[in-house]
Amino acid sequence: MSRKLNFSAGPCAIPLEVLNEMQENFADYQGNGISLAEVSHRHKLYDDVHNEAISLMKELLKVPDNYSILFLGGGGTLAFTMIPMNFLGEGKTADYVNSGTWAKKAIDDAKKVGNVNVVFDGKDSAYSTLPAASSMKASDGSAYFHFTSNETIGGIQWKDWPEVGDTPVICDMSSDIMSRELPIDKFAMIYGGVQKNLGPAGAAFMIIRNDLLERSPDSLTAYLNYKTHAEKNAMYNTPPVFTIWGVKVFLEWVKRNGGVAGMEQLADKKSKLIYDVLDGDDFYKSPVDPAFRSTMNIVFRLPSEELEAQFVKEAAAEGMMFLKGHRSVGGCRASIYNGVPESAVFTLTDFMKDFSRKNG
Ligand code: PMP
Repeated sequence: MSRKLNFSAGPCAIPLEVLNEMQENFADYQGNGISLAEVSHRHKLYDDVHNEAISLMKELLKVPDNYSILFLGGGGTLAFTMIPMNFLGEGKTADYVNSGTWAKKAIDDAKKVGNVNVVFDGKDSAYSTLPAASSMKASDGSAYFHFTSNETIGGIQWKDWPEVGDTPVICDMSSDIMSRELPIDKFAMIYGGVQKNLGPAGAAFMIIRNDLLERSPDSLTAYLNYKTHAEKNAMYNTPPVFTIWGVKVFLEWVKRNGGVAGMEQLADKKSKLIYDVLDGDDFYKSPVDPAFRSTMNIVFRLPSEELEAQFVKEAAAEGMMFLKGHRSVGGCRASIYNGVPESAVFTLTDFMKDFSRKNG
């Protein structure tokens, strides 16, 4: 089989070893004569997978004992609604950073639930930069402070963490979780979809400090209340079993490959290879502030839209898929999550250099 080189923004590249292990165990899970896709989620076979996925998250990210780890349906998007429903509180205001498309979606949903104060809006820079983390302050009596660690479409990433006193910090880490070491205790909650750095699509992860859960109002219906899920170890209802199995197998791969530190080293190395091409050449332009360049989603422009279309087409013909930028911003984007091997990035940078030589 000739595998494509997958630069998709998500769902995205999954290591071949992970896919193969899942395939080998799909119909006959570990020699038990039955598939995980056909046993009760209360069965020991699944229960072990569920708990192993949670304990690998805990171990790899060094999550302290006073946090709950959940995998739930609804993606990162349902969390945009559930977070204010659970933690905003009647008559209170929450602080949000508007760093781009994904932050804006979180803000728009929160505004439908309660009061939102936008502490920073990147509009004037076309969302190409971020504020200094040290300049961030929560407003008086703020319910929580929300930000997006990596803007998947804009290609910008926080490099330091905002510290806002006692105000709980909540972060959408959909597109850079597990790609760098984290001081978990600076956060009250970290969440995101699993389909970029953790496994196949179908679930979102939540890491929630337990004291925050005390805020979840009893008036919420069962599913919408994070406390329900935390009390039941994310087994209140049928979990997305296939996805969570995928997360477990993916995290075992992360562990074998140096854990979070290994992923961070790889992300730094791979992203530098591409940024060096962008910087070393007048042909390509990076539209983002160099201080906040994402190590996961690298956005770039070519001299014209025609050349961008040609670039994407020729790359695809050579097996490099999904290099087109998001339809809302245009240009090109290479997403190089944990599952993208360094060899794929070498192939891409060779192609980029060759393309600029021929067309520059
Ligand atoms: N936040 C960010 C930063 C994202 O990149 C995405 C998805 N691309 C989401 C939230 C939404 O996640 P989901 O599609 O799982 O709802």
